[in-house]
Amino acid sequence: MSLHACLYCRVSTEEQSREGFSILAQRDRLMAFCRAQSWDVAGIYVDDGHSGAKLDRPALSRLRQDAKTDLFQLVLVWKVDRLSRKVAHLAALVDEFDRAHVAFRSVTEPFDTSHAAGRAFMQMLGVFAELERENIRERSALGIRKRVEQGFVHGRPTMLGYRFVEKGKLEVDPASAAVVRWIFGQYLAGVGTLRIAQHLINGVSGLQTEVVYREFRHVSAHSVRDRISWILKNPIYAGYAAIGDDLYAGRHEAIIDLTTWQQAQAQIQSRQNIPNRAHASRYLLTGRIICGQCGARMFGYRQPNRSPEARHIRPYYEYYCCRSNSGFQGRNWTCDNWGVKREHAEEVVLGALRGLAVEGIPGRAAPSLPEDPFTADLSRRRQELQASLGQAERRQRNLFRAIEEAPDLDAAVLSRVRELAEEQKRLALELAVVEKALRNGGPGLSRPEVERLLQDVPRILDAAGHDQIRELLRTFVRRVVVTPVERPSKGHSRLFPKEVTVEFYPL
Ligand SMILES: [Zn+2]
Repeated sequence: MSLHACLYCRVSTEEQSREGFSILAQRDRLMAFCRAQSWDVAGIYVDDGHSGAKLDRPALSRLRQDAKTDLFQLVLVWKVDRLSRKVAHLAALVDEFDRAHVAFRSVTEPFDTSHAAGRAFMQMLGVFAELERENIRERSALGIRKRVEQGFVHGRPTMLGYRFVEKGKLEVDPASAAVVRWIFGQYLAGVGTLRIAQHLINGVSGLQTEVVYREFRHVSAHSVRDRISWILKNPIYAGYAAIGDDLYAGRHEAIIDLTTWQQAQAQIQSRQNIPNRAHASRYLLTGRIICGQCGARMFGYRQPNRSPEARHIRPYYEYYCCRSNSGFQGRNWTCDNWGVKREHAEEVVLGALRGLAVEGIPGRAAPSLPEDPFTADLSRRRQELQASLGQAERRQRNLFRAIEEAPDLDAAVLSRVRELAEEQKRLALELAVVEKALRNGGPGLSRPEVERLLQDVPRILDAAGHDQIRELLRTFVRRVVVTPVERPSKGHSRLFPKEVTVEFYPL
C-alpha cells in the first residue's frame, strides 16, 4: 500500500496580493511532489486569507481532527511557515502529529520529522521565521513612532483643511480650512453634529461652495456626521502629530487654536452623556403599518421643512411611506400610494386602541390585501431553499451508499462529502433566517394578562413614555392599513386622502 499524504496550503491576506504565494501554486507543486514520490493524496486542506500566527484556522482544525483517524500518514506543506509562524505552535502541532503517527514534511526545506535531526532543524527554521516577523513588525512600528515624534503626521492621506505635500507633510488649504473652522464654531455654539452635517449638505453661505459641494454633497447626513465627529476630535487641527494617545508638536500649521480645540474636546465629553435617540424609533407604527394598495410595508420618513419662517416651529414633515413606491424604489415599482402623514396615522391608531380599552370595540377588519411583494419574495425563497435542502440531503445519501459499496476513499470523494455538508449547513441557516422573517408576531400574553393590560391602556396612553406606548401597540395591534380613498388625478398632491384602518390581534 502506498503512503497517504494530505496537503496543507495557506496564504495570509497580505500574501494574497504577492506573487508566487498563491494557493493554486502551492497546491499544484505539492501535487506534483506527491506524484513524483508515488504517494496518494488523501486530502487537501486550504486556509485562504489566514495568518500563520494563529492556530485557529478552519482547514487546520479539520486537518488536526482528521490526523487522529487513519486517513493519512503524512502532512505535506510547501514551506514550514505555511503550517505556523510560531515556534511554540509548530512544536505543538508536530508533537500532536507525532502521537498520531503522522509525519510532517516541507517540500522546499530538506528535513523530515520522522528523524530527531529533522525535528531540530525544523524548529530552527521556525525560530528564524518568527524572529523575522517580529523584526518587521518592530521596525515598522518604531519607524512610524519616530516620524511622529519628529512632528510628521501619520495616517489618513486626505484630511479636510490640509493638502499633503509629501509623505507626512501637510500644508493648509485655505478654502477647506475655512470649512473646518466653521464646523468647530458651530459645534461650540451648541449645534449638534447631525445638524451641522445637514447644513453642510444643504449648503452654507460664506463658505466656498466648490469645497462644500465636493466634500459633502451626494453623501448621507449620517456619514457626514461621522466625518464631522472625527474632525472635531482630531488633534492634528490643533497643530499636533499624534500616535495613540501621545501628542507631539507637529511640523504643520494649526487650523484651530489650542483653546478652541480643548473646549471642543470638553463639549464632546459632556455631550456624550446625553442620550441621542435615533429618529427611527420615533415612528410608533414601524413594522405594523402596511400599504393597502400593494401590500408592502410602510416606513417612517421625514423631510426637512424648507420654509425659513416655519422651520423653527416644525423642523420636519414626517410621513409613513410605501416601500414599493417608485419614488423610493426606482422605476420598477409603481405603487402610487405615496404615504400618509405620521401624526394622522398615529392619532387614528391610538384612538382605536383607546376605544378598545374603554368600550371593548375591536378595530374593524382590514380590507383584504394583495400579498406584500417583499414577503412574497421571502415565501418564494423559502420554497427554493426547502427544495435545494432536500436535494442536497438526497445527494448525500446517494454518496454515502456509493461509499459503502466501494470503500476506497479518495480525496475527491472526501472533499465532495465535506462540500455537501457545508452546503447543507449554509442552506439550513438561510432557511432559518427566512422563516424568522416570515413569522408573525402576536401578543404572546395569557388572557388575564391581556385584560389587566387593557385596563391600563388609558393610563399608559396619557402618562407613559414613548417606548411604553410603542410596546403597547406591539402587543395589541396586528397591522395598520393605509388605503387611498379617492384616486388621485394627474398632478394631484401625493398626499391625497387616505383611510387608516387598525386591525388588532384576536383577543
Ligand atoms: Zn404601496
